[in-house]
Amino acid sequence: MAHHLTTCTFCGVGCGIYLETAGNRIVGVYPSMSHPTNEGRICVRGWNVHEVASSPDRLKLPLLRRNGQFREVGWDEALDFVTARLRAIRDQHGPDALAFFNSPRCANEEAYLLQKLARAVIGTNNVEHGTGVYSNNSINVLLEMIGHPASTNSLGELDRSEVILLDGVDLAMQLPTIGGRVIRAKLSGAKLIIIDARRHRVAEHADFFLQLRPGTRVLLYGAMAKVIVDRGLGDLNFIRAHCRNYPAFLEKVEDFDLLQAADICGVRPELIEQAAMAYARARAAAILYSTGIEARGASSIRSMINLALLTGHLGKEGAGIYALTEHNNLQGVCDMGMAPDRLPGYRAVTDASARACVERLWQAKLPASPGACARKVWEHRNHGRVRGVWLCRYDPVNTVSFCDVPAVLKQMDLVVVQHLFMTTTAQYAHVILPLVAFGEEQVTFTSTERRIQLANKVIEPPEGPLPAWQQLTRVARALGAPWDYSSAAEVMAEIGQVVPFYSGASYDNLARDYGRQWPCTKDRPLGTRLLFADGLPGQPFQFEPVPRPNIPRYAPEAFPMAMIFGHSLYYWHQNVLVKHSETLKRELRVLLLDYPEGFVELNDGDATELGIRDGDKIRVRGSSGTAVTTARVTREVRSGTIFVPFFVREVERQLLGAAPPEMGNLGKPVFVKVEKA
Ligand code: SF4
Repeated sequence: MAHHLTTCTFCGVGCGIYLETAGNRIVGVYPSMSHPTNEGRICVRGWNVHEVASSPDRLKLPLLRRNGQFREVGWDEALDFVTARLRAIRDQHGPDALAFFNSPRCANEEAYLLQKLARAVIGTNNVEHGTGVYSNNSINVLLEMIGHPASTNSLGELDRSEVILLDGVDLAMQLPTIGGRVIRAKLSGAKLIIIDARRHRVAEHADFFLQLRPGTRVLLYGAMAKVIVDRGLGDLNFIRAHCRNYPAFLEKVEDFDLLQAADICGVRPELIEQAAMAYARARAAAILYSTGIEARGASSIRSMINLALLTGHLGKEGAGIYALTEHNNLQGVCDMGMAPDRLPGYRAVTDASARACVERLWQAKLPASPGACARKVWEHRNHGRVRGVWLCRYDPVNTVSFCDVPAVLKQMDLVVVQHLFMTTTAQYAHVILPLVAFGEEQVTFTSTERRIQLANKVIEPPEGPLPAWQQLTRVARALGAPWDYSSAAEVMAEIGQVVPFYSGASYDNLARDYGRQWPCTKDRPLGTRLLFADGLPGQPFQFEPVPRPNIPRYAPEAFPMAMIFGHSLYYWHQNVLVKHSETLKRELRVLLLDYPEGFVELNDGDATELGIRDGDKIRVRGSSGTAVTTARVTREVRSGTIFVPFFVREVERQLLGAAPPEMGNLGKPVFVKVEKA
């Protein structure tokens, strides 16, 4: 037996684990005791992360569709086909007829090369990561208000926070290792404020549980800010020294009213008041929120960050903002430029000097206008202009519930899918390129605390699959680009030249510790645990005034219940991987024994009133569609709300399919009527 230190690549926490190998097989996993993020703890997914590699369902050779049937072909034939089609589409219809989308599960090197292929070789900015179809609000707001699109502090600092405010994230389900940290902080004396429509496991430990009506967050945060301002609890020294735009923010705060907000949010006013005072009075307070698929509206993020600026809870140990990324490399793929309007390192594609700098390094002319985002392509809003898509580990047929993705794919002249498995999306591909699995290659991922970490190669891959970066390199070379990477480490060396805050993140340096947190630069090679630790020059932060929203007191009479979406532990985002892990599949079967077709959760009081019992079939009607599903009766959701786990895609699809939420309406609840079927 041999033991190899590596990183769990199942979620954005990035726990340190050891893989145990016997011969060329991974036979077990155990947690690293000294990894600063997880300190000896991992969750059920981490314990079984290695099972994916040994799945008998893995693709072995490239598959090429001919006359409607897939057949296995060699790499040369597959890549010749891809290259010829890419070239033909580009020459005939222009570079913007191609789009390159990936999953936020892709490694940094894969993401970097995919967008480089699109921009430098093909000549289009049509690139995006899969979570972008819901929103990039978190990154945009963080950049605008604090200048950094990421968590400001390290997870290890949570035990130094006197108050932890956790908003809209079920940590026990989504990011269990962080959930454990929060509960341990609470047991050591921290006060816990939970803001959520659903009572989850961590909420059981709350000092202040603000179980609000869905869609009322901006009112709640505005009311908290008003309490803090009225009681003189703002940190005026911090504001004067470090923030811009305070008067404009103050003017808007005056419009909020505690009693009115409490009434509309459905939370007792004294609870809002006490939570606001506890947050403001703490020596150090942290805010944790999910940046993911919940498609949080930009205003609610702005209101939250305004609160941190108002109280000076930023730039200190234990005081900061944690923008939690649930997918294992959402942070990394964004850092790498997987966005239609941003180059690697978040520089705008429209910025001529940023482009010139990258053009010099890449020796290629770059397109100057923002590209089409994935949402536009799936919604057909670019009117079929995109005729070929490259999808790296991305499974939009499974994950994008509000569009008819198969219909779009069927019209394409080229669909390239890179994956380990025959996914639902791969069934619509012209060519499928099989990838190596976790443990079979050395690449990097960037965790939710900006930690760039190595996932190490511990076994040889089976004959057939190739690393994604090798596939991309071969295609780029065939298209005439002078790419000569011979390892993922060389790709990272180039990333260090293009992305200034990765400039010190060589593989050698990353291997010396448990990765490095960016900014990791040549003159700061040990990385940065706490952003702004060196002091806050000038006024780097900006208040963003948020007007008081006009939210009706009652739900529409015809549709009296608000529907919210969320996670369950085993059938979690990357259900493709869960489906191919024997243990997690078995755990899922246990969960679904009582609800074989999935379920939606209904408050027990509401269920009694509607004459619905646990396990009954129910009909959920919305203004755009109807779904029939099973009721799981629980106290976890608040009265007037139903909770739909993300894996019950069909419910979401049937209810929203005809009317996908506009980007501006993200975060707003969908109103429905529930009745016994
Ligand atoms: S919390 Fe995330 S990174 Fe840690 S073991 Fe679980 S799945 Fe892996």
